[in-house]
Amino acid sequence: MPKQDALFADLPAEDAPEPSRISDMHRMFGVVEGKRCGDCRHFRRYEQGNSKFAKCDLTTQTGGRATDWKVKFDACGKWETEAMRP
Ligand code: SF4
Repeated sequence: MPKQDALFADLPAEDAPEPSRISDMHRMFGVVEGKRCGDCRHFRRYEQGNSKFAKCDLTTQTGGRATDWKVKFDACGKWETEAMRP
């Protein structure tokens, strides 16, 4: 019988270090305490076939997972709501 753990082998561990794509944003713009990327107007959700993913529209975007964004990332200093749109 195959090991069930293999099904989740590509998921990051709960205590995995923050990916450089978001830590770079924090280094450049700071962190907004108590806010998450998922509530930011720059957080873009996409659906292609059975695949759902998200990107930050202020960063480099590719068609690959390396630039996928996570709802739970701590917000950077560019965090804005739709209501804050100029
Ligand atoms: S807070 Fe907004 S602008 Fe900053 S990284 Fe997250 S989605 Fe991008």
